[in-house]
Amino acid sequence: MSYVWQLSMSDKIQTPIKPLFKKPKTPKRIGSSIKKEFVHPRDYNAYSLPFSCEDCSHFASENENCTLGLPTEAHLKRNQIHSYDLSGKIAFCRFQEID
Ligand code: SF4
Repeated sequence: MSYVWQLSMSDKIQTPIKPLFKKPKTPKRIGSSIKKEFVHPRDYNAYSLPFSCEDCSHFASENENCTLGLPTEAHLKRNQIHSYDLSGKIAFCRFQEID
């Protein structure tokens, strides 16, 4: 290779520029991303709150799925009651629709 050819090709043969610093990865979430809300025991006992998928019109009971495609696991009645018994908090679904 001649020196002239190297000069003419020097701008065409370029190695990709690597960033000096890699962007740090976001650490995985440890806790649940669903926000649970505190419900006063007086209100929990006094009112029949529709807080679970079983109370929702989007719930398909035969396979425990949501017709909107949302994950139902946290909003199923058995899990909601278990959560309330442990922490006094309930994960209300923002898309719940009551007949
Ligand atoms: S909209 Fe919410 S409460 Fe209703 S079935 Fe779906 S996940 Fe459950």
